[in-house]
Amino acid sequence: MKKTFLVAFASIIIISTAHTQTIKSPDEFLGYELGTQFTYHHRAVEYFKYIAEISPLAEYREYGTTNEGRPLGVCFISSKENLANLEEYRKNNLIKTGLLKGEFTGKQIPFIWLAYNVHGNEAAGMETAMKTLYTLVTGSYQGVSEYLKGCIIVIDPCQNPDGHDLYTNRYRRSMNVNINPDGKSWEHNQGWPGARTNHYLFDLNRDWTWQTQVETQQRLFFYNQFMPQVHADFHEMGPESTFFFAPGATPMNNSITQWQREFHKLMGNGNAFLFNQKFRLYFTKEDFDLFYPSYGDTWPLLNGAIGFTYEQGGGGASGLAYLQESGDTLTLKERIDGHFTASMATLKVSFDNREKLLAEYNKYFEESVKNPSFQYKSVIIKGSNEKSNISDLLKLLTRNQIKYTFAGNIGKKYKGFDYVSDKDGEVIVEKGDILISAYQPQSHFMQILFEPKSKTLDSLSYDLTAWALPYVYNLKVFAVTDRIASDTTKPEPEKIVNEISSIKPYAYVTNYSGFDELKFMAALYLKNIKLRYSLKPFVLNGINYNRGSIIIARGDNKNLEADFDKFVTHAANECHIKLIPTTTGLVDSGKDFGSDNSPLIKKRSVALLCGEGTSSGSVGELWYFFEKELNYPLTLLNTCTAEKADLKNYDILIMTSGSYSALKDTIIDYVKRGGRVIALENAISLFAGEKTTSLAKAIETRTAEQKTSEKKIKSDDSTLLKKFELENDRRYKLSERSAGSIYKVKLDDTHPYSFGMGKEWFIMKRTAGYPFLTTGSNIGYILDKEPVSGFAGFKYKDKIKSTLVIGTERIGSGEVIYITDNPYFRAFWKSGRVLLGNCILR
Ligand SMILES: [Zn+2]
Repeated sequence: MKKTFLVAFASIIIISTAHTQTIKSPDEFLGYELGTQFTYHHRAVEYFKYIAEISPLAEYREYGTTNEGRPLGVCFISSKENLANLEEYRKNNLIKTGLLKGEFTGKQIPFIWLAYNVHGNEAAGMETAMKTLYTLVTGSYQGVSEYLKGCIIVIDPCQNPDGHDLYTNRYRRSMNVNINPDGKSWEHNQGWPGARTNHYLFDLNRDWTWQTQVETQQRLFFYNQFMPQVHADFHEMGPESTFFFAPGATPMNNSITQWQREFHKLMGNGNAFLFNQKFRLYFTKEDFDLFYPSYGDTWPLLNGAIGFTYEQGGGGASGLAYLQESGDTLTLKERIDGHFTASMATLKVSFDNREKLLAEYNKYFEESVKNPSFQYKSVIIKGSNEKSNISDLLKLLTRNQIKYTFAGNIGKKYKGFDYVSDKDGEVIVEKGDILISAYQPQSHFMQILFEPKSKTLDSLSYDLTAWALPYVYNLKVFAVTDRIASDTTKPEPEKIVNEISSIKPYAYVTNYSGFDELKFMAALYLKNIKLRYSLKPFVLNGINYNRGSIIIARGDNKNLEADFDKFVTHAANECHIKLIPTTTGLVDSGKDFGSDNSPLIKKRSVALLCGEGTSSGSVGELWYFFEKELNYPLTLLNTCTAEKADLKNYDILIMTSGSYSALKDTIIDYVKRGGRVIALENAISLFAGEKTTSLAKAIETRTAEQKTSEKKIKSDDSTLLKKFELENDRRYKLSERSAGSIYKVKLDDTHPYSFGMGKEWFIMKRTAGYPFLTTGSNIGYILDKEPVSGFAGFKYKDKIKSTLVIGTERIGSGEVIYITDNPYFRAFWKSGRVLLGNCILR
């Protein structure tokens, strides 16, 4: 009762103030002129809420919270009548996609989504969002009142508030009172880590498909309830650059339709018209390609909308003012003007073409359901695959609104493409197999995620060239050209409940299949439970146990007494583990529980080097892995304090991609004294440069071998006469690299670090290879020169054959594990979690 009264009272106040006040501009609201200071995020949120309260043309909706607790929200801006029917427009839009069942009531107008500041330090975006909002609700730009009648505009002022405020705080702290445009000064050079990313140092503009981060998860859950027709993402590039707008560059994803390409051109013309009027410079069709499907332009494009990237010259380095090489000074005000101009062009072009925009949008989804373009009409995921990987894959599909069911036609045999073998094969549909049919609204996006070879004209992508999900999750999957009937039931995760045993078992055992068991191990360690794992397979009570099976023996945990069973059972239920209690440690065949072949292990303390010299993205991924996936404590150890820290306190030291030369002696000494180092990507170079290591010796041998087989180029060789144009061509230079392609890795499945991964695995390959170790273990290696998917240059292919991916060697009393590429790439390469977990917990 009281609540109802308060709500009524509040709405009276809003109505009365709306009549008596004029709407404050951002300048009036903030107390400074827009562009003369970077605004804190909470002030922009206040402004958005203020506008929504005072103007009948705007409605504010919060859609989430960041890692650091900041709110995520948008304003819907449209005519009063449209906003009153927002829910009807929303539903109709979804009904037209086929993603929502229901009766179309005839009302449909486009949703135009303007999203700013996904990269925290590209902070002109959020300032512009306030100006755009004010302009729309006050009608203070030619044509905007009409736009509000014909469209529903959505403004997300800041997609990455944590990054934005890190930037703003640092900038305000380091800025001079008198603006200093000197690019060398402190205010133009922020420290480690950059403020581009979110709390876990993730680039949110690479996360749209994978949705590993809470900001993306919440934003796309919200976005999917509206499915806009246009999505524009506002970025900034370096301070010496001009402005980029559509059309996007090649390579373009093949699934981008003719109409989407046409609309990109229309948008380019619309922007050029306004930029020409202001004599502003710009470029199109270069640098920002539309290939990798996980950006704020490609993901909307591949979800039926038209997605755009805008790039204003500026970014984190440019501050409030920046002295350019030309002698001109780039100001924040000019950057705001660039994005504001592009915002107005986006609205005008979208409004002018609104009918065609809707017709083509509706057609896109109609055709997706009736006549999918994907050559494979069904994808079968074998139900026998490792369950944590299946379950994560299904989560990803759900987040991307791709429907799946159990497969019908059980027992029937089909010819199809076998991803793991990378060739055509046969599949018999079995009970529990999962079917993804191409006959669904999201068939375009399904195609993107399951296309065995991503089609590209050349290799000039800004990012990756391969991402087929069966490789990402390392799953047995088949793509079939037939349309397979679906079962009516939807796969749901199996609920495992272990009861606390009434008798006291001698031990609990569980087979080792994948990441769930590693989470279980981590949970046990946190309760200080000691456990063993089997180095060899064994049979007990007629049940086969594989290598890596976990043995939790009462005899190893006497100190826990009665709590032992409770802790173990509770942890198993949390981690979906089926426990098998046994009354003996004497196995039917294999090695007994008390054997050295079932080593006893206990909790290990882990430190991860971070700070100057390390790659913040790689650090962030591991930080996220420990906190959000493995649920295991991690100490982030800054490189500037690591020397002073007593490394003896850490059993494991992880070095991500980075340069550690200043710490070389400290790290080598740590290993010699018995520490375990996990060296990832180019952190390996520290050991490659230490003459005494097996790795350094192997490199020396291979280099000598290559020298003798190398063809010497004579000084009069005609290949040296390359034209200037070719010499500067990125395409030519790419012959030496892998543009994010996927390689098959052969595994030594008897090594504990590869337990649970099978005999083969796939990795996102982006670096050069290392030779096989002459002493130590070569656990994972590449034998073929061809990637299974994606682009690798011809010179690269020759060099990558017969190289190491995972290896380990002893140095003194300690050990170094080498992993040449990122096994947990952007936290979406889920199949790499098992490798990391093994290296940490075994
Ligand atoms: Zn950006």
